[in-house]
Formats: sequence, C-alpha cells, structure tokens
Amino acid sequence: MISQQKYWNPVLETLAHEKIRKLQLEKFKRIFGWAHERSKFHRGLYEKAGIKPGDIRSFEDIRRIPTVEKSMMRGIQRKDPFPYGDALCVPLEEVSEFRQTSGTTGQPVYQADTWQDWEWWAECWAYILWAQGYRPKDRVFLPFGYNVFVAFWAGHYAAEKIGAEVVPGGVLDTQARILKIQELQCTAMMATPTYVLGMADTAKNKMGIDPRSLAIRKITCAGEPGASIPTTKKRMEDAWDAKVYDHAGATEIGAWCFECEAQSGGLHVNEAFFLVEIQDTETGEYIEEPGRRGKMIITALDRQAQPCVRFDSKDIIEWAPEPCPCGRSFRLIKGGVVGRADDITKVKGVLLAPSAIEEVVRGLDGLADEFEVIVDKEGDIDRITLKIEILKGREGERKRIEAQLKDQLRLKTNLGYNLEFHDYGTLPRYDVKAKRFKDLRGKH
Ligand SMILES: [Zn+2]
Repeated sequence: MISQQKYWNPVLETLAHEKIRKLQLEKFKRIFGWAHERSKFHRGLYEKAGIKPGDIRSFEDIRRIPTVEKSMMRGIQRKDPFPYGDALCVPLEEVSEFRQTSGTTGQPVYQADTWQDWEWWAECWAYILWAQGYRPKDRVFLPFGYNVFVAFWAGHYAAEKIGAEVVPGGVLDTQARILKIQELQCTAMMATPTYVLGMADTAKNKMGIDPRSLAIRKITCAGEPGASIPTTKKRMEDAWDAKVYDHAGATEIGAWCFECEAQSGGLHVNEAFFLVEIQDTETGEYIEEPGRRGKMIITALDRQAQPCVRFDSKDIIEWAPEPCPCGRSFRLIKGGVVGRADDITKVKGVLLAPSAIEEVVRGLDGLADEFEVIVDKEGDIDRITLKIEILKGREGERKRIEAQLKDQLRLKTNLGYNLEFHDYGTLPRYDVKAKRFKDLRGKH
C-alpha cells in the first residue's frame, strides 16, 4: 500500500548521487535545447554568448551559460505574445495557468504554465508533503487567499494527488478558519510563519481557543524563512503542539526544496527536478563544498512553457556537511534559505541579515511575536531601531529583557540597537508575508 511507503518516489529519492548528477546533466541538455529552440529571448541571450546546445557536455560547460535575472523577465513582458513575452516556448493556447510574482521589489512578473507544467508543480509538492508525513488519512486545511499568487495552490493539488482530503479555507476570515479547523478536526495545514503565529494569537486571545487543543499536528510553511529559524519554529510548534516544516519555492522556479520529518536543520533540494548551483557573490567562483555561502543559480529541469534556466535567484544558501538521517540522497542546504542577496545590507560597515534579528527576538522569553526593524541615519551615522512588544503581564521584567536583548543582538549581529518597547498588540499585524525590515537610508 502506498501509504506505507517511506518515500513518495523510492527510486529517485534514494538514487546514488553520481546517478542523480548524470540525470541532471541529461535533463539540463534537454531543457537548454528546448529553450534555445523555442524561446526567442533565451536564444538571443545564448547566441550573444556564443553557446549552442551541442556545446554542453559537462557541469563546467553549464557555468558558461548566461544567467537570467528577474529584471530581464520583467523587461520582455511588454513583447508578444501578451502578457508573457517572448520567453514563451509553447503556443499561447496551450497555457492553462496564470500566476504572478508578488511584486514586493517592483513590477510583478507574469508566469505561464501548461497543464503538463501544472502536473509537474503538483508532483514536486507531493515529494514535500510525503516527506513531511502527510498521508491519505490526513484532512488538510488551506488558509490562504486562492488568488493570482502561486502561494499554496500547488500544495492544494498535491494534497489531493497523494490522496489526502483538502479543505479550502479561501475567503473565510481568520476566526471562521479556526472554527472550521475545529469543527472538521483538520490534521494539517499550510501557511506563512507570520500567519501561523497570527492564527494562534487570534485563537487564544480573541476566541478563547487554545490552538494546542485542535487536531493540527503538521504545518507546512513557505513564503518567509521563519520555519528554518529555530526560535521561530519553536514558537510555532509550541503554540500549535504540531511539527512545523519549512519549504522554499518561487513562482518563476517551482517548489525546489523541502524539510523532511527528520528535521535535521536543513532542506533537501529536489535534485531529480532541479539543478542548484551556488556561486560566491564576491569572486564569482562556484562552490561545491559544504560550509561556504553563496547565491543560488537554479534550473527547473522539466518546466516547459516559460522555462527557468540558470535563474539568478539571489537566495543565499550553503550545502550541509552531512547527509540527512532520513536516507534521501537529495543534498541538504543548511538552515534553509539564509537570506537574500538584496536584503543583506551593510549597517555601520557590518553585514546584517534580518533573519539574525528574528532569531534573537523570537528566542527571548517575555517578548511577543511581532517586531519591526528600521534602519535610518542620525546625521551621517547609521542607526538601527528595533521595535518590540512585551507580553501582557510581563511588563515588570522589562529591565531583564532589555539587558538580554542587547547582549544577544550584539553577540549575533555585532551591532548596537536603539530599542523601543511597545504595548502588546500595538505593532502592525500582517496576514500573509510580513514587512518587518525597513531601510530608509536611501530616502535621505
Ligand atoms: Zn531528510
């Protein structure tokens, strides 16, 4: 019986690594040839660099192929065919799915998928859900907006594909969603970390329902790094008495990595479907060994309508040194996506990743889940303000909290902060992805 299988695909997930690499190389040649033949945009890029499909024989050859950036995809979308532009590799009538990026850093990118691509999305997500213990007996609740963003759409289809029962929480508000979870005794759900914590807060403080009393025992997170930040993960797991698993994916890429039930501190790259390369951002050198961070260049090896070939994702990742105890041969990236090349900024000459601040705040007893970081200038000098909330009834511990917070922040980020304490419930709340980091220096 399928529900007794440990892996969704027992062959691919345990294939010897040399064999996976061989498969990746063959698949890469195929998708590169496909993009070269069918996409005017890709062919132009490759002709300019003087590279033809027949030139690709090794992973070293792949590194000579130009990368594609989000801004380039934005640039072609004014071209025919509307609204996708000339990277489209299939006739427009074969497109069955429209999605768009969230556009937090500019004009959104429109993404076309055929039905075959969409089945591929669901298959990628089936690996994720199975690895996180989802089985046919689960009743899965999806508390998201079902709109133009890809969000958990493919998670929905994959849950159906593996045989679980799906409850779409669409336009219900947070309280109605919690009541539905309670009524139907749903056992699993998928949401952003911000929303997982927000739902727990609403249940507890507005409805008098302890989320731990509900039947949810598995939560799959995406959209923000929180489920790979140990202190945020612990807050979510404690609030819901559930296992919380991370997953990273993107509209232009697909669902490329996932945490498994072993929770070994890293995420598996689905190497049967994606080729991940890591490049040193300073030297441009490619990183094969564990322990060195760089930015990810990724290829979706099977996506056809609007291909993703050597996409410069700007995600900062590193290979983990040890294989995962779960037995999958797909390599792990340590600590998930640890930052974005765009988000990691210099403050007072020191590199600062916002996730380091999150780790400290969420690890401190007495602080609420919300916080906000503002970087601006006082005269010529950078200043970081951290706004936090003390939990109700813990106001008397402010001195202890302040001292611990200062110490921990100094230790983890090497910087001093201007701390602002706010009353519980007064900082902005977010429904989906939070905007907790604001760099105002450019505006002065
Ligand atoms: Zn594993």
